[in-house]
Amino acid sequence: MSAPLELNAGNFSSWLSDTRTALKNDAETEVPCGDCTACCTSSYFIHIKPTETDTLSHILDELLFPAPGMPEGNVLMGYDEQGHCPMLKNGACSIYEHRPLTCRSYDCRIFPATGIQISGKDKRLITQQAERWKFDFANTDEMKAHQAVQKAASFLKSKSQLFQPDELPGNPTQLAIMAIEVSDLFLNEDPGRSDEKEMVKTILKEHNNVHSV
Ligand code: SF4
Repeated sequence: MSAPLELNAGNFSSWLSDTRTALKNDAETEVPCGDCTACCTSSYFIHIKPTETDTLSHILDELLFPAPGMPEGNVLMGYDEQGHCPMLKNGACSIYEHRPLTCRSYDCRIFPATGIQISGKDKRLITQQAERWKFDFANTDEMKAHQAVQKAASFLKSKSQLFQPDELPGNPTQLAIMAIEVSDLFLNEDPGRSDEKEMVKTILKEHNNVHSV
């Protein structure tokens, strides 16, 4: 039997609130992945922090290497020639109960939420999965909140020249996360009408606030 075309992504406001809380607390998110393993087979480097001692004890040292640009002890786990995580065995995570926080917090609903797309042949499965999610909206306020997330993402993408190189994330996943974190700034703002440089300063302040709590 083929998979249903659409997947229920849940209520948008609940998802937004849960996602922001998880991002702020560096915590796990509940994602109804079903039997999807797209993110385990899409050539992702998986970041593992030195504090994830249980996870680290379940992965062979030779599969890990120092994470570039991060403090000592942070490591990355690579992927095989097919783009599969080495912990994926027989179509399932072989260390599921001990998997890294990166895997526990990854949620491909950030792409339909923000309108940000990932490209590349190696990300095809994630792109397909992301396109299947459909959010529910209970009222116009929830639709406005969604539009604000999409406006924030669009601003970050189209005004990247207004940011310093180290102020904007270089990959679509982190850019989508940043849009979700700062989207309330766009609830009542038309970025086309406001002072764009002021908006950049406000975004960076808000982003720093989220990460300093
Ligand atoms: S550790 Fe497990 S959940 Fe994480 S990418 Fe590998 S197989 Fe997937």
